[in-house]
Amino acid sequence: MPYVVALTGGIGSGKTTIAEMFARLGVKIVDADIIARQVVEPGSPALSEIRNHFGPQAILPGGNLNRGWLRQRIFADPVSKQWLNDLLHPLIQQQTQQLINEITDDWCLWVVPLLTENGLQDQADRVLVVDIDEETQIRRTMARDNITRQQAADILTAQASRQSRLQIADDVIDNSGSPEEQQQVVAMLYQRYQLQASAKKG
Ligand code: ATP
Repeated sequence: MPYVVALTGGIGSGKTTIAEMFARLGVKIVDADIIARQVVEPGSPALSEIRNHFGPQAILPGGNLNRGWLRQRIFADPVSKQWLNDLLHPLIQQQTQQLINEITDDWCLWVVPLLTENGLQDQADRVLVVDIDEETQIRRTMARDNITRQQAADILTAQASRQSRLQIADDVIDNSGSPEEQQQVVAMLYQRYQLQASAKKG
């Protein structure tokens, strides 16, 4: 099993941008968002269970999960939210483990936006947090997603705090700088993780 570096950060902090830089250096990426979509893709057993539990409104005409509807549906219903978590969490866990086990490199990057929220830090050898101040986070998210300040701020409020994320960090990328600066930090971390991974391998 490879050495696993978890990459996390709040909305619009720059996770995707940083992960792409590692990928360009040849690092294999395991993406929690992609896995979360795969386990409920059309035809999957989990999607059928969701349909049986919540009714046909949970499925879009094309057969995909109606995420917007489901989000609203569980918003003020902790029991349904728990039911959904109990269904999806083990499937996501299993698929994540499988993808990590298939990697033959010494280490990989596990991009996991909700690491802090879901308390998954023990499943990584190392936690790398992409950090920016909240004002920059809001500005970049508004510009990228074409949403209002209030919408961006509401998403931020629903996520783990910057402080709680930094508390579990082994390494931090300050992403307030330029892409050139990021690139240098990524190159330095790349070397560090290579060394740590081969030390673990023994
Ligand atoms: P999400 O959690 O919403 O998926 P993310 O953490 O993956 O977000 P990115 O999509 O990588 O964040 O970055 C958010 C926005 O900020 C993007 O438009 C990206 O191009 C921009 N961005 C990222 N890093 C920088 C930087 N160093 N300087 C300026 N803009 C940046």
